[in-house]
Amino acid sequence: MAGSNAAERISTPPDEELLRVIREAISAATLRPEADAISELRAALGPVERKLALAKIRATHWVEVARADKRARPFAESMMEQFPLDSAQGRALMSLAEALLRTPDPARADQLIAERLTEVRGGGRNPISQAVAGALHDAGRGGAAVGAGVATGAGAAGRDGAAGGASRAATDRANDNWLLRAGFTLLGGISRLLPNVANELAGEFTAASVAKPVVAPVVRATLRRAMRMLGEAFIVGETIDSALERGKSNAALALCSFDVLGEGARTEVDAQRYFDSYAAAIEALGHQPPGTVHSRSSISVKLSALEPRYTLLQSGRVARVLIPRMLELARKAAAVGIGMTIDAEEADRLELSLDIIEALARDEKTVRWDGLGLAVQAYGRRAPFVIDWVARLARVTGRRMTTRLVKGAYWDSEIKRAQERGLSSFPVYTSKSATDASYLVCAQRLFANNDVIYSQFATHNAFSVAAVLEMAPTNAQYEFQRLHGMGELVFEAVRADIPRLRPVRAYAPVGTHEDLLPYLVRRLLENGANTSFVHQFLNPQVPVEQVVRDPVSALNESNSKIREPQALYAPERRNSDGPDWGDPAELTVLKNELEKRARQMYAGGPIISGKTVRDAAVPVHSPSNFLEIVGTSRDATADEIEILRRLKIKGRTPTRMYYYRELQNLRDPLNFRKSTVAKA
Ligand code: FAD
Repeated sequence: MAGSNAAERISTPPDEELLRVIREAISAATLRPEADAISELRAALGPVERKLALAKIRATHWVEVARADKRARPFAESMMEQFPLDSAQGRALMSLAEALLRTPDPARADQLIAERLTEVRGGGRNPISQAVAGALHDAGRGGAAVGAGVATGAGAAGRDGAAGGASRAATDRANDNWLLRAGFTLLGGISRLLPNVANELAGEFTAASVAKPVVAPVVRATLRRAMRMLGEAFIVGETIDSALERGKSNAALALCSFDVLGEGARTEVDAQRYFDSYAAAIEALGHQPPGTVHSRSSISVKLSALEPRYTLLQSGRVARVLIPRMLELARKAAAVGIGMTIDAEEADRLELSLDIIEALARDEKTVRWDGLGLAVQAYGRRAPFVIDWVARLARVTGRRMTTRLVKGAYWDSEIKRAQERGLSSFPVYTSKSATDASYLVCAQRLFANNDVIYSQFATHNAFSVAAVLEMAPTNAQYEFQRLHGMGELVFEAVRADIPRLRPVRAYAPVGTHEDLLPYLVRRLLENGANTSFVHQFLNPQVPVEQVVRDPVSALNESNSKIREPQALYAPERRNSDGPDWGDPAELTVLKNELEKRARQMYAGGPIISGKTVRDAAVPVHSPSNFLEIVGTSRDATADEIEILRRLKIKGRTPTRMYYYRELQNLRDPLNFRKSTVAKA
């Protein structure tokens, strides 16, 4: 990838200058043409073609082993198998989960349930959906059939136990599957009730039930409970202490990055609450047995949880409020010797998050701490530059940093938001193969900076894992990561093949169902998509060859179904241009323009006879800042309005003289008449 490495292009300017230049390269690459970015990916992966071929052989073996494993399916995999997003039921389940837990208004919640449950019950177009529809039906009568439809689950896990090899992970899996079965059973029961309550739920009461809803509140409460049960299987514990306790007996949870659930704080009270939870979690994590930063469980932090105004437009406030908060958390994490990773969120927040990370990296009090880290999303067209920047920042500040490489969890909303805003292109790739290839290019970059970056490869995709293993330099220090409830079978197969596999850390959400929703919806969205690895992995109808496809071979495939933002309304019209609220350069232009306008004083008044009347004007204050005067104006008086109304009735366009005469007339008819008569 000659010349694409921002650090290489520049002829050795001082380190600080280099850091600034890489930041500019990141901004410039945000919406770069996809074709350019893809040709760089292809060039970068050319030299490792052979390694990728070997990776494919390995990944094929792991998938075959996992498919042959007849024990319980992990929770998320089961759920995605049952409710794929390309089925009406999958979509219905997701919108139920999202809208139900988010809808406080009972009447609306009932309407929504009525609408969505009809879809969940409907026969799907694939055999699995039909099985679920059947299972839901049976569940209303007996319940147990759902379990049978969902997993070889508890029974198989139980057999493990009886055989004496009972791993705690299997017990956990059985518990999760129990939750899943119970959730589906409730869902099934409700679903059977539906014909009797559909009208009531929809608010169309029959004569018989016209008095008031009777069954609807029960249905609503049961369904909420069912959704919570489905959601809770993604959570490791309600508190860090209970999660750590669980990790003592379950090897799969011994090494975690805890996600204290909660994001998108809406108020300062929310932000303070989340801050306190993070601080308490860090303190609790300090009580783990001693060890190096990377051998202990760590914490993941979402910046959006800690500041309700976490947007580039509010960068001043973010610097005043959020940076000190993050500094406090980072110092606490450093003091107790655990890692802290800043999660990657929406693309238009990336630049702002880099400002915050830079401030943390420059904190001399934590310079000896190796645990400061960030997540980088490979689906972003600028991802490799972000890794260049992290490496340079680590060098400039004389510290070793951590980078978690993910593919990115906000793909659908990035696509939609870019179209809605009329951006010049998308910040993310539009084909899965491009994201997969970008993941590998980012991995190369991380390994190239092994001396200053400890890499964490977060993926459940067998091919991505195999390719990372093939590309890793001999003495590289790194780890893999997976989400709790997912990827267990893949990593079990990998470890059976490679006993000395590097550590695998689980990303483990901690909290209560109130804060679970955004996390749950992201998981359903990303894993329910039919291109997702988790979705295809265990599905016998998808050939293994397709599951472990080398992404480079598919790089030419563009996603023609997705319209570029500018072509959203084609052929009728071009979409209107919108600003990228995440681009500091665009915001600077906008800000300068606003400041120029702010210096201007505006004078207004009623327009009479084509002229603005400016007499007796009063100051006009800015609605956003009442202390600021933006100009002067006054409203039309009642008399002025009355004259204009009369003239309008007469169909005359008033001259100025006529207007003033009429005005006098109106104010003092007697005097006016006298003076007119005198003149005459
Ligand atoms: P795969 O099925 O191989 O990849 C799925 C991914 O491919 C999608 O999520 C999407 O990124 C991408 N994709 C799908 N369709 C397309 C398309 N048409 N065009 C382009 N790309 C496409 N995500 C964050 O955003 N921020 C985080 O901070 C974060 N932290 C995480 C921490 C851990 C430990 C883990 C395991 C995951 C984390 N994730 C985070 C979520 C992560 O992004 C997803 O789990 C991941 O994308 C799934 O990738 P995969 O390799 O397992 O699956």
